[in-house]
Parts: sequence; structure tokens; C-alpha cells
Amino acid sequence: MSSDERLGSHERELYSRQIRLPGVGEAGQLRLKSAKVLVLGAGGLGSPAALYLAAAGVGLLGIADPDQVELSNLHRQVLHGFDTLGLPKTISAAEALSEINPGLQIALHPEGLTVENAAELVARYELVVDGTDNFATRFLAADACVLAGKPLIHGSVIRSEGQVGVFLPKQGCYRCVYPVMPAAASVPTCAEAGVWGATCGVVGSWMASEVIAVLLGRRTQSRLHLIDVEAGTARVVHLAADSACPACGREPTILALDKSFYQPTTCQLTPTAMSEHPLEVSIEEAARLLASAQPPLLIDVREPSEHATCCIACAKLIPMALVPERLAEIPQGVPVLIHCHHGGRSLRVTQFLRAKGYAQVSNVQGGIDAWSLKVDPKVRRY
Ligand SMILES: [Zn+2]
Repeated sequence: MSSDERLGSHERELYSRQIRLPGVGEAGQLRLKSAKVLVLGAGGLGSPAALYLAAAGVGLLGIADPDQVELSNLHRQVLHGFDTLGLPKTISAAEALSEINPGLQIALHPEGLTVENAAELVARYELVVDGTDNFATRFLAADACVLAGKPLIHGSVIRSEGQVGVFLPKQGCYRCVYPVMPAAASVPTCAEAGVWGATCGVVGSWMASEVIAVLLGRRTQSRLHLIDVEAGTARVVHLAADSACPACGREPTILALDKSFYQPTTCQLTPTAMSEHPLEVSIEEAARLLASAQPPLLIDVREPSEHATCCIACAKLIPMALVPERLAEIPQGVPVLIHCHHGGRSLRVTQFLRAKGYAQVSNVQGGIDAWSLKVDPKVRRY
């Protein structure tokens, strides 16, 4: 055994609480030490993910981020601090990560992930962690991983909700869930909708857990975790490859990374359709539409226990995690309103349905809680 194949006494002590876990041991720790992981985005999700991966003893971390540290980052991007304001995030991240684990190898990619460098960058690593905040980079990262046959751990967060996707080669990819990149203007960003820093901590840490699980061979199937910190719920959806997927299906259309696939798109809906069917409607507008002569179909995407606690009359229950398999129950070509407890889960479902071609689906802002407060106080709050 060479020294690379054994842990030193210092490492044994450093990782002792992890080594004793079932399924880890010295062999598992050595596996982490040999791992090469690329983290895209040193922001709200990349910060906790990279910190925990560094502390866990992952051997090489690549950090790709083209941005500088700004004051409005600091409430959630815990890799950075007041002393690194204005510095490139890669430099600031490297300082923080070296402090938590001086044995870590760090490679900095201050150009970020681009169409030009994606294939070469992804090829250098065995697994990619995507904590970026825009659809163009998410889809680019997802496609680059499919083409290179590399696992992708994806995360996203908005307000108090997040999701963690574990996409393993040939087991279902990001585009199996989201086939088409949504128009940038159709989806609110954290800058517009706000985000809790601690929710980024939950989702980013969850991503790190999944990276370690994949590296240690504990994942055999792609999966999507849906986390709602406000509601206190987390669900796992087990995924399967979609044979019609444009990236990993039987007849893929994405055979190489082409710039045209990742252009920030203008909305594909006509202006008329957009104004008639905005991505989100206020609770007052939802009440007006539901009381009209031709009310839209109302779908509740909360859990059955929440639906049993209270509901808006006539809402059809399809819990969020079951929407992909129950799509046939949602008619195309008719107006549909989606609601949940506070409007976060339903926004994700609305985005998902729009990506599947449902042009007349809108999210009910504020969910049933806003309904209780502003429309019908007889509906119980929880
Ligand atoms: Zn796919």
C-alpha cells in the first residue's frame, strides 16, 4: 500500500467521527480523498455544499464562479465575509475552504461554466455540483454531465423552499424532469422573490450529503428531493429516464453543447397569452376567477394531511411529488390554477407544467394561507 492508499494518523483523527459511520470506514474515507468534485457557483448553495465537502475530506474541489462578493450576498453565502467584499468569489472561497481543511486541493475557475469550457471542465472531474442561479447555466451543466456520463447533484432554492436533484448517468437527467429551458422572464429569481439564508444552508448541506452518498456508492437511482422549510416537509421522488428526453432519451436532440440551446430566451408564449395567463395571480384575482361563470380548474398540490386540514372548495388534490406521474389528469388547453400552503410548491409545479407545454397554468400567490386571510376566514389556518 502506498501512502496515498492509507490514511495518516492525523487524518484518522480528523475524520474519526465520519470513519466510524456504517458504510464509510477507512476505505470510504480514502474514496472521498481520491474524489474530484466540481462546484458550480460559490453562492448560497455552493457555500454550504463546498464547506461540508471540504470538511468531509473530498480530495480535490473545483470552484467555478465568475462573480465578485457583494454586500447583498452575505446573508446566505457563508463562504464569504465582509473582509472579502469585492474579491472574486473563487479567491474568497479558496481562503475559507483552506481554513476549514488545509489538506484540500482547490482548483479555481473564475471564468465560471461557459458553453466553450463546459466539456473540458466537466471532463476533469468525476462529479458536478450545480448551485448556480440561472437556467442557462443549469441546463448547460445538466447537458454537459449527460454528454460526459458524469453524475450531477443539482440544487435550487427560492423563498423557503428548495430542491435537490441527484442525476446519475442513464438513470434520468435534469431534462427528463425539465425538458425545455423556461423563458428567463417567466420565472422569479431570488433577487425578485427573496430567499432565506438558512434555507440555502439546508439545501446546500443536503447537496453535500448527496455528493458523499454518490461517491460512496450509496445511490443507484436518480431522485429529486423537494424541501419546504416553512411547512416542515421533505419528499423524495424517485426518477426514471424518460425515453423521450432530448438529452438522454432514445433519440436525443442534444448531441453537443451548442450556444443556441442556452441563450436567455424571451417568453415563448404570445404577449396575449401571457397577459391572459400570467405565471402568478394574486389571491384576489384567483377568487375573482373562481367565482366567474367559467372558473379555471383549481389544483391543490399540498400533502393529503394538509388537504384534510383545510381546503379551498372543489380543489383537486394532486400532491406535488405525484404531479409528474399524474399529468394525464391535468387537461391541456384549459385555464388551471395551482395552489399550495404559501405559494412556493405551487410555483414550482406551475414552472414544471409550463415546461411541459401547459400555457394556461398560473400559480396562486400566497396559497391557501392568503385565502384564509384575505378571502375566506372560515378556511382554517395552520
Ligand atoms: Zn434525460
